[in-house]
Amino acid sequence: MSPIPETVLPTSSQLDKARSSLVKTLPREGLGEQTALDHIRNDICPALNNSSKSPNYYGFVTGGTTPAAAFADNLVTEFDQNAQVHLPNETITTDVEDRALSLLCELLDLEPADWKHKIFTTGATASNILGLACGRQYIIEEAARRNDSNCILFKASVAQSGLMQAMRYAEVDDIRILTTVPHSSLAKAASILGLGRDAVKLFGRKDKSHKFDMTLLEYELSKHKIASIVAISCGDVNTGFYATTGAEMSKIRKLCNQYGAWLHVDGAFGLMARILNSDPSSSTSILDGVANIELADSITGDGHKLLNVPYDCGFFFSRHPGIGLEVFQNQGAAYLCTSPVDDNAIISPLNIGLENSRRFRALPVYANLLIYGEEGYRKMLWEQMELAQRIAEFISNHEGYEVLPKGNHPDNVFIVVLFKAKDETLNDVLVTRINETSKIYVSGTVWDGEKACRFAVSNWQADAEKDIKIIGDVLERVHADFLVNSLRGS
Ligand SMILES: *Cc1c(COP(=O)(O)O)cnc(C)c1O
Repeated sequence: MSPIPETVLPTSSQLDKARSSLVKTLPREGLGEQTALDHIRNDICPALNNSSKSPNYYGFVTGGTTPAAAFADNLVTEFDQNAQVHLPNETITTDVEDRALSLLCELLDLEPADWKHKIFTTGATASNILGLACGRQYIIEEAARRNDSNCILFKASVAQSGLMQAMRYAEVDDIRILTTVPHSSLAKAASILGLGRDAVKLFGRKDKSHKFDMTLLEYELSKHKIASIVAISCGDVNTGFYATTGAEMSKIRKLCNQYGAWLHVDGAFGLMARILNSDPSSSTSILDGVANIELADSITGDGHKLLNVPYDCGFFFSRHPGIGLEVFQNQGAAYLCTSPVDDNAIISPLNIGLENSRRFRALPVYANLLIYGEEGYRKMLWEQMELAQRIAEFISNHEGYEVLPKGNHPDNVFIVVLFKAKDETLNDVLVTRINETSKIYVSGTVWDGEKACRFAVSNWQADAEKDIKIIGDVLERVHADFLVNSLRGS
């Protein structure tokens, strides 16, 4: 195992050196392996950040890579299997993928047999695209079925006839994605899929909580000639808060059944809290936030975040293999045909996902799941939550800082801590001051119209005892330096 680096960012001179060393034009004759690799090792590597190698990098939700996952990922590269077609007599690749996805379901307390359409993706953004694409297909078909516009059901397939024709056949005027505190990738997915970013509509309560205004939601779902996808933010990326309680999930499921809507959950990092299910000491607001998530039609998850496998790895689960096959069917290439579909056969990934040729990204996940198991991942998450809660406590008790949303109790913190400096002048430069220490790294964001700072604890090496000291020192020093400088200035 490599030692934990002292700093999280390269210096500006390392960056400058690397930038000026980049080869400007394509070499006419190759430089040769020795020269090229020396350049990569000596010039480029020092200018990469330690977002994965250091547990003190708290930007975005980054995760790291366990040694086992790194080893497995190197094997993936070495053997370079193409995980697109299920070829059981030729390679074990798709069997491993299928098994890894089942084990992953178990880890997240989901019944593998309920999620027949499951696939690894490049990340949660791709999984959200899959979720909205399946949702779009389903809600238009469902609208046609309900209109009883007989014999036009087959024409109301977005996959076959295209969005505009299918909507005409189904007599649907508009498609909406109803949500609260969505991740930015949801609007991106809506844009890519021809639904448009404006289709994403927020139905949060007036009290600015993350929960739905259920009355408004029901009213919107009941609108005539509008087909809807409800998207649940199972973990808002700014605060880590959950958009639903278990009771609200049941209610939303019923509403979706009633009005023919699709229920999608974006659980990129928040889903992981489901491994706490059997732990009675966990905060009820966190347990309740992931309760009844299994009522969804589709679920987005991320591997390269809390599973601590390398980029690029996300996953997607849906209950509706028929819809998945309709949308993603790679028709018309005889040489890619696979054995006839029986109910328990592994479906060729190219027919239920975005890509045709794909990396064998299941192997690092399989490795980690075997090595850590349920208990190992639970311990890892406990340590990450412990650290996040201690950061929140430190901030709450410090005269110069405050946690956001105001009054948020450390016990409600999952792995994300949002905060600001009380003094506006310091708050304006807080992210820069913290990150220029290079001891830790935080993300900047905006909360309630003001600049804010955010810790996301997600690395497998998190060590609450050790890391809180490093973080406390940095926050203390940044605040003390600010006080000294403002005294000098006045
Ligand atoms: C990180 C994240 C995404 C996007 O994930 P990528 O892996 O970066 O594509 C989507 N939704 C949520 C809630 C996230 O935290």
